[in-house]
Amino acid sequence: MCFDKTKTDAEWRAELSPGQYRILREHGTEPAFTGEYWDNHEAGVYRCAGCGEPLFASDTKFDSGTGWPSFYQALSADAVAEKRDGSHGMDRVEALCRRCGSHLGHVFPDGPAPTGLRFCINSASLRFQKKQD
Ligand code: FE
Repeated sequence: MCFDKTKTDAEWRAELSPGQYRILREHGTEPAFTGEYWDNHEAGVYRCAGCGEPLFASDTKFDSGTGWPSFYQALSADAVAEKRDGSHGMDRVEALCRRCGSHLGHVFPDGPAPTGLRFCINSASLRFQKKQD
C-alpha cells in the first residue's frame, strides 16, 4: 500500500468534521440510512472525502438495501486498497483509499454480477461529483 503520510493527525482533525474524522481516520461506521448518498441515483463520480481521489463510478452503484452506498467495483484496481479486518469479532475485508489511507467501509462477497462483490461504503467517506452534461 502506498498511503499519503504527509498529513499529520492535527491536519486531519482540522480538515474533517468530527463525524468524518471518526469514520475516515478511526474506522468508524455511520448509522445505516443516515448518510448523504445511500439513496443517491445521480450520474457522476464518488471521490474520497479525505483526499479527492476518484474511487467509485455511479454506474457501478446498486441498491443493496443496507442503507449504505454500495458498489460492485472500484473505479480502478488502484483506487481502493483492501485489508483483512478482524475487529468486532468479525472476519471482514476493510476498504481504504489507497492514496490517503482513509477508511471507506468494507467489501463483502455477496454483491451482484459481474464481480459478485459489494463495496459497502460510508457516505461520509465520499464526496459526490455530479456528471456535467
Ligand atoms: Fe483518499
